[in-house]
Formats: sequence, C-alpha cells, structure tokens
Amino acid sequence: MAFNYLNLVGNAELMKQLNYAMIYRLIIQQSPISRIQLAESSQLAPASITKITRQLLNKKLIKEVDIQQSTGGRPAVSIVAKFDYYQAISIQLSRSHVMIELYDLGAKSLASKRIPLNDFTQQQTQNYLISLIELFCQEQQKKIKHLIAIAVVMPGVIDSVKGIVRYTPHIHVDNWALCDILKTKFDVPIFIGNDVQSLALAESYFGSTQSVEDSILVRVHRGVGSGVIINQQLLMNHNQSACEVGHIQVNELGERCHCGNFGCLENQVVNNAIEKRAKLLLEQGYRSKLTVDKCDILTICQLANQGDELAEKLIKSAGENLGRAVAMMVNIFNPQCVVVAGEITKSPEILLNAVNNALYSQSLKQLRENLIINCSSLDDRSAIGAFALVQQSLFDGSLLMAILENKS
Ligand SMILES: [Zn+2]
Repeated sequence: MAFNYLNLVGNAELMKQLNYAMIYRLIIQQSPISRIQLAESSQLAPASITKITRQLLNKKLIKEVDIQQSTGGRPAVSIVAKFDYYQAISIQLSRSHVMIELYDLGAKSLASKRIPLNDFTQQQTQNYLISLIELFCQEQQKKIKHLIAIAVVMPGVIDSVKGIVRYTPHIHVDNWALCDILKTKFDVPIFIGNDVQSLALAESYFGSTQSVEDSILVRVHRGVGSGVIINQQLLMNHNQSACEVGHIQVNELGERCHCGNFGCLENQVVNNAIEKRAKLLLEQGYRSKLTVDKCDILTICQLANQGDELAEKLIKSAGENLGRAVAMMVNIFNPQCVVVAGEITKSPEILLNAVNNALYSQSLKQLRENLIINCSSLDDRSAIGAFALVQQSLFDGSLLMAILENKS
C-alpha cells in the first residue's frame, strides 16, 4: 500500500499548530507561568517549550517578567501574555446599527463607534462597510499599530468556514462572500459569524461562563437567538447554524409568526412584542405608571423593578415563555450554565425567577439540579462577539500560525 506523505506533512503541521495553540492558551489562562510549569502542564519536552516561547516572544505575543520567589533569592523568570502589540477590528452589524470597535488581544476595547444602518442592499452594505472600516482605520491610526484581523458578526445563517453570508434578516443576500471581499481589500485574516453564537463564545472566553465546559446563551432583542457551547467549543452543524430557539412554539393560541407558525417564542418575548402588549393593555385602561407614549422595554424593566404591577407581569410572562424554551434546551443539552442576554435582563430578578419557575416544572430534575442561570455579564450591543472569533482563532492556533509565519 502506498504511503501518503501528503497526509504526514498535513498532520505534522497540524500538530505544530495545536502545540503552539496549547502553549499560548496556557500562558493566557495561567500567567504568570514559568517554562518549567508550561512543560509540566503541556507534557511537551522542555526543548519544545523553549522553541515555542522564543517564537511567541519574537512576535511579541508574550513577554517575560521577573517574579520574586516567596523563598527569597534570585527572581524567577515567568511568562505572561502581551496584549498591547496587536489589535483587531470587530464589527457587529445589527438591523439598525453598525458597531465598530478596536480591541487589543486582552479583549480591551480601545475605541468604538456606533453608526445607524439604513435599509441597504447587499452591495450598498458592502460598500458602506468598507468605507466605514477605512474611515475607522484613519481615525484610529495612532491606536492601530499592528492590525491582525477584522471580524464581522450579524444575525442570520453565516457560514463562518467558507466565509459566506447565507441569510441575514435585514439585507437580501445572495451567497455574500464577505470574507473574500474584505480580505482582498484589507489584506488581513477575516472572520465572520452569527452574532448570538459569537456572543455565547465571548461569554465563555470573557464572561460568566468562563469556568464551565458546557453553557447556553439566549439573547432576546428584536429576535431570539442562541448559542450552545459544548466542551468550551461552539456547537456548529453542517449549515453553520444551530438552535433557532425563536421558533419553538410556546403558545398554541399565540399570534402568527413571520415564519408562518403560531405562538413562536419570538412573538411572545422580543422587545417589540412586550412593548406592543403593554400598549394594548394601557389603551384598554390597565392602571400603570407606564404610558402609551412611554412604554419602551427599558422603561418597562425600570418600572417592573420599582414594583409597577403591569410592568412586572409583562416581564414575568416573557420570562415564563422564555423558560419553556430554556427547559427544552436544558433537557437536550444538559448545560452547566444558562445565560440570558438582551434589554430584558435589566429586570434580572423578576426575569430569572420566572425562567426558573418554568424550568422547575418542565425540565428533568437531575439536569437542573446544579444548573446556574445568569444574566449576561457582557454588553450585547458591543462588538465583543466579533472579537471572540479572533480569540477563537488564536486559541485554535490558526491565527497564531498566520502571525508567526508573517515575515514582516
Ligand atoms: Zn416562528
């Protein structure tokens, strides 16, 4: 049988990438860490650690620091991550706005700008996006010292492997090859992904699910989206989409959804649906501090927290419906933690109590026993989700290799 040398080369390169990724991740998560500790934790030979850390040092991804030993004597050299040398541009495209942010590698936002987005076609959005990035680069040229990537997230079905936008609710797209287009224009690695899935990833890297392996994030905004993290990795199917929770039926007699079915979760809990219900009840004479002219979701949350009966009932009802869908997800995925994101979380106590009530009656006891339910600790209007895609490619080694192989 012929020996496949091509495979061998591929495997050797993959092994190299995985080893570099493992060391970089250990340094991020356990710094300051010595070379000896790195060798022990990674099970790699000390010579390999010396080689890998030398290259990471050369590319200014890590730095050495002196740590004073508790036993006295000479300080020991340890390694920490260096976050301020490279930067990444992260963009969140929502239905009405574009959020463009500059991050360093420690996920620190260095600059941000939020601009309204009009009803554009694919081509118009593309041109707009390119000119926006160009302008942002000009404005932030002092802060952008070494740009290593641009990441874009948006709602819809986004093929992050092929770099193609298959569907996004606010723009009519035809297999929009956004990655290739931005790569040609800006000549840096480009990442694209679904906004809520990316937010789930961000929560697992920088937020409240950092310490668990399996978690679910559900975001309520104009729609309902979710992301599932299993073994600290984003769950993806062949279509790069997963868990369209918004179209789980939670009310058989509910209103018709844009998808054609009746009583979808989305129609019960999105901001717009809560606001519409508030308005209707106010018009019918329900007594509340809310008024027909001021019953936006943030006011509803604020008054619910102050004990306004109508506002409280609206959040409670949304929470119970959300809890029905969360219970189904808990029964299927058995996560350690569920995180809720969106404006509705401005009323955390009422919301989480209602979600918990539904969960109590509709999920298996053994699966919910140690389950933690939290509100997101991240700002879901920031572009942190997009930055999580950059972090993901550093952690899987692919972007790391691109930096190491860059001769400049
Ligand atoms: Zn639906």
